[in-house]
Amino acid sequence: MNNKVLVVEDEQSIITLLQYNLQQAGFEVITAMDGEEGLGKALAERPQMIVLDLMLPKMDGIEVCKQLRQNKVDIPILMLTAKDDEFDKVLGLELGADDYMTKPFSPREVVARVKAILRRTSKKEANLEDTTVAQQIVIGPLRILPENYEAYFNEEVLDLTPKEFELLGYLAKNKGRVLTRDQLLSAVWNYDFAGDTRIVDVHISHLREKVEKDSKKPTIIKTVRGLGYKLEGPKHYE
Ligand code: CA
Repeated sequence: MNNKVLVVEDEQSIITLLQYNLQQAGFEVITAMDGEEGLGKALAERPQMIVLDLMLPKMDGIEVCKQLRQNKVDIPILMLTAKDDEFDKVLGLELGADDYMTKPFSPREVVARVKAILRRTSKKEANLEDTTVAQQIVIGPLRILPENYEAYFNEEVLDLTPKEFELLGYLAKNKGRVLTRDQLLSAVWNYDFAGDTRIVDVHISHLREKVEKDSKKPTIIKTVRGLGYKLEGPKHYE
């Protein structure tokens, strides 16, 4: 397994800052200064992780993200955004970014996020090598094999991003229990600090589109007003 992090960013000062800090943390850093070059290097070099600026020359971060996911490349992506990019930020998450950070940020925090995302990914890879029969969780039409990163809806494979899968898996392991946004953020995104809980809401709405008959009237992933979310227990379907 390589130790490469691809940084796609058009501001040289930010590249220098991230390169230094990521190298200090033990990563090999490759860089690209526009979206096209970034996409090309992501496909050719298959880094462990991509730190991707949103506003880029030639092809923006959203498009890079979209193209990677459409090509079934599931390298984790940490998006960098400017303060005013509200709409695009949410769109980025919807298109498959795993997390985002708003500029200006401390390089230390970027390194912490990169490590947090990679911890999750390597856990996933370790689990995939395990040949023991996986435990499954069945909830109505949903069948989830958390250790295998597989989920089925009415026996059809669900096409989930790694983060969507982790979120669904965590909700399923705690089925019937109310989980707050902060709990989900710390369990699924591995945050050791207060993060932006809108990430949770965006991923929940994306999940609902895949597992609910009518995502506007969810019967599986319920919103518990003022508290958070809960996955209905199997009793609900008996
Ligand atoms: Ca930029």
